[in-house]
Amino acid sequence: MITRLSRLFLRTLRDDPADAEVPSHKLLVRAGYVRRVAPGVYSWLPLGLRVLRKVEDVVRAEMDAIGGQEISLPALLPREPYETTNRWTEYGDGLFRLRDRKGADYLLGPTHEELFALTVKGEYSSYKDLPVTLYQIQTKYRDEERPRAGILRGREFVMKDSYSFDLDEDGLKASYDAHRQAYQRIFDRLRVKYVIVAATSGAMGGSASEEFLADSPVGEDTYVRCPESGYAANVEAVVTPAPEPLPIEGQPEAVVYDTPDTPTISTLVDWANSAGIAERYGRPVTAADTLKNVMVKLRHPDGKTEILGIGIPGDREVDDKRLGASVEPAEVELLTEADFAENPFLVKGYIGPKALQANGVRYLVDPRVGTGTSWITGADEPGKHVVGLVAGRDFTPDGTIEAAEVRDGDPSPDGRGTLVAARGIEIGHIFQLGNKYTDAFEVDVLGENGKPVRLTMGSYGVGVSRMVAVIAEQQHDDKGLRWPAAVAPYDVHVVIANKDDAARAGAEEVVSGLHTQGLDVLFDDRTASPGVKFKDAELLGMPLVLVIGRGWAEGKVELRDRFTGETEELPAASAVDAVVAKVRG
Ligand code: ATP
Ligand code: MG
Repeated sequence: MITRLSRLFLRTLRDDPADAEVPSHKLLVRAGYVRRVAPGVYSWLPLGLRVLRKVEDVVRAEMDAIGGQEISLPALLPREPYETTNRWTEYGDGLFRLRDRKGADYLLGPTHEELFALTVKGEYSSYKDLPVTLYQIQTKYRDEERPRAGILRGREFVMKDSYSFDLDEDGLKASYDAHRQAYQRIFDRLRVKYVIVAATSGAMGGSASEEFLADSPVGEDTYVRCPESGYAANVEAVVTPAPEPLPIEGQPEAVVYDTPDTPTISTLVDWANSAGIAERYGRPVTAADTLKNVMVKLRHPDGKTEILGIGIPGDREVDDKRLGASVEPAEVELLTEADFAENPFLVKGYIGPKALQANGVRYLVDPRVGTGTSWITGADEPGKHVVGLVAGRDFTPDGTIEAAEVRDGDPSPDGRGTLVAARGIEIGHIFQLGNKYTDAFEVDVLGENGKPVRLTMGSYGVGVSRMVAVIAEQQHDDKGLRWPAAVAPYDVHVVIANKDDAARAGAEEVVSGLHTQGLDVLFDDRTASPGVKFKDAELLGMPLVLVIGRGWAEGKVELRDRFTGETEELPAASAVDAVVAKVRG
């Protein structure tokens, strides 16, 4: 097909949009691929839509290749199924809820486990029908708290979601592995650089799950990897290796000290080193010797709130994401002044484990706070701390919690090296859900022995619209977009860079030759100056740019490779063949 720039519904912008921070967002808007309608809600203009469709095509082909069958469910959904699984409530503010004229509750689907489970239940009744994998490529709605970076985190976005149904655990594992491999093929075909990380299962419930994260400095997902062993995991999934219990016997008694004006860890450490406490340790006291007690308020799905105490080594901060994942489905809130007023045993800056436990507050500690470890911590009175408070002797936590930050240099959970931090953008997610949804809807079929079998389920997502931004993010340069051939809106961008009629006619001829060969051609037939046209060609980012200009009179054209930046001069007569060979090669 031939698309003439003189007719194309496209206006490129000279300036970056004011709300854009990341390169893909700036470029996709400047190049006229997408336009913002509302926060996190975007229109796709012709060039953008072509990229989106090509990403969809790759995803569809690989889903079909593993036997997935495409269906399409509504985005507008009734409340009941989501009520059954409690997600109507659990999804919190992330769900778009609406009401019809009769007063019935609806939602715009954020993900479709419920509906797929019900769909399979509706059609299938025998073990002979299984396994089955169904998928859709469909618009999803989530009222994201921080819609960001254009289409990277939208409130309306396109997802490929698929769901596998199997008779048993082995079947589920096979479906999961098939998806894992299909995803690897998809992302390889799209030329995306990514890692696969162990993940937490989030609001979906269930067990094994992995995320595909595209390498990107602007990614919101921090993950850690161990260069020595190849281990990679979401920060939320990192399990802190627990130390061996230490002997309690022989450890000196805990002593309470007056420590005026030491409400922070650093003032406390300074006090300890100036007050002779270091002698007890035979070395200077550091923040890691202190136990910091962080108070949070949990809001449980039933609406009840609970004050929770979290003890972590004083040299670490609480990581909100890790904390959030650990307490899910409860949500974390900060304590208000009113909470402190209602609970006078919470002495700000001097909170210790003792008062918490004496007052019935659940107290969870970092796994490093193991039995026999000794701490400097709050003594529950203003200006007082206790030194030598031993876990398992002077206090017994109610359990452990993974809430402390993970840092470069921490030991890898596989025991084979240390962790370093990296950033990525989540492009895919695969889950072994197990029975969560099939239990909720009693999705059974008749088994071989005549008894009912409860199906086991997997769910698998790819961010299709997000992928457009991810590719732009990984592939652009300072001049503009740079599409890999698999998703470029057009195979080649032909620019007329001369006003003379012979060159114009020649360009028309070349373009029609390319079209005859089956290529998709973006044809800059405008009367604008060559400089403007070259700039636009770089901004729009087709992989090949064929320039027909001054050289035409001598039978020469110029072919530019947008990726390597290389330019080669070609005889005009063989231009079509050369471009076709490059595209097909
Ligand atoms: P994130 O952690 O980025 O919010 P998620 O864990 O909520 O993602 P899933 O529920 O696993 O995402 O959805 C499957 C895929 O859909 C994700 O891997 C991601 O690529 C894509 N996706 C999720 N939320 C958005 C969004 N707001 N905008 C665009 N794509 C999204
Ligand atoms: Mg996820």
